[in-house]
Amino acid sequence: VPELPEVETVRRGIAPVLEGATIERAEIADVRLTRPFDPAIVADALVGEQIAAVDRRGKYLLVRLGSGRTLVIHLRMTGSLSHAPTGELPDDAYRRATLGLDTGTEVAYRDVRRFGTWELLEPDDLDPYLGARLGSEPLGTAFTGRSLARAAAGRRAPVKSFLLDQRRIAGLGNIYADEALWRARVNPRRPAGELTANEYARLHRAIRAALRRGVELRGSTLSTYVTPDGSPGGMQDEFHVYGRLGEPCDRCGRPIERIVLGGRGTWFCPHCQPEPA
Ligand SMILES: [Zn+2]
Repeated sequence: VPELPEVETVRRGIAPVLEGATIERAEIADVRLTRPFDPAIVADALVGEQIAAVDRRGKYLLVRLGSGRTLVIHLRMTGSLSHAPTGELPDDAYRRATLGLDTGTEVAYRDVRRFGTWELLEPDDLDPYLGARLGSEPLGTAFTGRSLARAAAGRRAPVKSFLLDQRRIAGLGNIYADEALWRARVNPRRPAGELTANEYARLHRAIRAALRRGVELRGSTLSTYVTPDGSPGGMQDEFHVYGRLGEPCDRCGRPIERIVLGGRGTWFCPHCQPEPA
């Protein structure tokens, strides 16, 4: 599942292709992508739009259009974007949408599981839409150890589950939450409200470090995620805990354990991330 580093990698790959181009043709071949709206109507509305910018908020891609509207893309489980010169996109049964640009390029949206979404929002609707769904951007300046501690005050949910709430931290998912908790030496089961200010300062640094490393390595490729040029990311080779049950901890050499927390597989080192006495 693409998290912040994967979506940011997609953005960096696709922005130079899209920005400044005008959409000459749009085809949306899956009713699930735009529901409850008719995909043909959304496709028609895209034609003639010039793309001003491609931004990201959390795990959302924001394709900002000349009219002031924004195409909000969420890749969910298996969505991906690629591009090729017009007429050269490979045949693909999983291609759900195609944009033909005036630059002689076509952009394909592929999605095997079909959980991804394309939503075309009017100018006034974007901020309320994102505001209702997303907390602070973890690589931005508003995100601090103190803001994290404040948000967690009094919460009894496990800190791992707290970190995954997109309304608190936008873009953090299962992989980078586990990696950040390991870096910060915090046990994922601990109630969020019981961590000290010092631990939240550590966790804040750890979240940013894990995400930054993920962006540097162009995300992690476990099954379907690929970057827009078709190459895999590299972060999967640097996981400290995620998916490493029984393997030695990179810090202490003891075996990594796996538990299920809030329905999510959770990997950690019981020695480096102990339960408080
Ligand atoms: Zn360890």
